[in-house]
Amino acid sequence: MKRVLTVFCLLFLLACESREQPSSSTPSPTPESQAAPPPQAPLSLNPLYRQLYEAHETYQEPSIRRQRFKLADIEPLIHRLQAPFEVKQAGKSIEGRNIYLVKLGGGPKPVLLWSQMHGDEPTATMALLDIFNFFSTSDGFDELRRLLLDELTLYFIPMLNPDGAEKFKRRNAIDIDLNRDALRQQCPEARLLKKVRDETRAQWGFNLHDQSRYYGAGYEPATASISFLAPAFNLNKDINEVRGNAMKLIVLLNQALQEHIPNKVARYDDEFEPRAFGDNIQKWGTSTILIESGGLSNDPEKQELRRLNFTILLAAFEAIASGSYAQANIQDYEKIPMNNNNAFHDLIIREAQLRKNGQWFTVDLGFRHNQADYNSYASYYPKAILADIGDLSTFHAYESFDASGYRIVPGRTYGTVLPNLSSLRRLDIPALLRQGYTTFQLQQQPKPQEWAEIPAEITKAGSNPANEIRLNGNPSFLLQKDGAFHYAVINGFLYNLKNGDEALRAKMGG
Ligand SMILES: [Zn+2]
Repeated sequence: MKRVLTVFCLLFLLACESREQPSSSTPSPTPESQAAPPPQAPLSLNPLYRQLYEAHETYQEPSIRRQRFKLADIEPLIHRLQAPFEVKQAGKSIEGRNIYLVKLGGGPKPVLLWSQMHGDEPTATMALLDIFNFFSTSDGFDELRRLLLDELTLYFIPMLNPDGAEKFKRRNAIDIDLNRDALRQQCPEARLLKKVRDETRAQWGFNLHDQSRYYGAGYEPATASISFLAPAFNLNKDINEVRGNAMKLIVLLNQALQEHIPNKVARYDDEFEPRAFGDNIQKWGTSTILIESGGLSNDPEKQELRRLNFTILLAAFEAIASGSYAQANIQDYEKIPMNNNNAFHDLIIREAQLRKNGQWFTVDLGFRHNQADYNSYASYYPKAILADIGDLSTFHAYESFDASGYRIVPGRTYGTVLPNLSSLRRLDIPALLRQGYTTFQLQQQPKPQEWAEIPAEITKAGSNPANEIRLNGNPSFLLQKDGAFHYAVINGFLYNLKNGDEALRAKMGG
């Protein structure tokens, strides 16, 4: 059932993402422009931005270190805020959870930020908690704090969709996408956002999301780790002063990010979405900036992306307070590469030999790791899916392996039924993998999270998975060359059998 659900969710995600494909009128970059470095910096950035990045750890909220958290985890952090913060309960979600409005500063420029309108998009919420800690401290940044509090009035809605966050899902409790409810406003969360926007008369709005970790930045082998959009306010995609200011600020923030994640910044297609909040808030006169945190290598819990959110949000505050964003060139907005949806896999095995119907074919295999929930959505384990088969030469991956000259051999099931996971751990797993055994029958089934990241597939006594290479499956297999098995792929992870025995044993744990 879980696997069926996972497949369904992936298909659903792909369907959702497909409506965000870049328009076909977008010109493809030439090979020359792909190789070109990012455009020359036209702005001199305030050195404080880099100092804020360097100092982030000082302010990082230590109780939240992973993506999976709920309102109950952050509520005490909001309650403990003291003057100059003003905290009020702005409303309640459909299931009665509190939604907070945190106000800070008394300046003439109102700025509104809302995070986690989609319950499974938590990166910016973590950054907002760090920003609260930043403003609760006194240190060498005091001059900056004074400038921001004198010039700006900041309004934060951290976690607009606490019901979605409870189940780590995009939509709210009645399965409405709040970001398609800006016109009809059927949900209390959507009405609250509209009301706060109107009451604060925000000049600036920050719409804070996470996007798929499989998006690329243009056509380069670079993840879209942060993507921006200054949403259109009409079908013509006109640029008035409100939208133009948002574009200028994005140019500045992109430049700040290039110092940390060069080439890994992208922008969304600006096709007008009449039902979305970003587009409407732009229309209502608030310069609106969408920030989407995507994927980044070696950052599974998005803690580096959190740090970058912290940095660019404070940089944005400084640029608004000082007016420095106005120096940016709007034309540079168009130079930011477009989001390339569906550009990445977690693992690609390239140009391996696959035998089907009695013939050999040269194929690439693209695996993705879906998150399977447990512990009431508070935790997850990786569950791989073979997301694509064929010529994947236009795709990129977090990990790629050149398997030319290798044959794909489905893993075999070990002949002896073992009592439990401990008895499996006592076997010589590297040696068994080299004999072609990837799959082990256990009398006593461990929880899937206990074996999701070990180099062995576990199955019930009597079950004998074929490990057939098929789309949307999760086959265990070996890569064979000169009659020997050199690599194994199990649950979408690649294991080296030639000279990795110690690593394999360490992965087996105990
Ligand atoms: Zn979102």
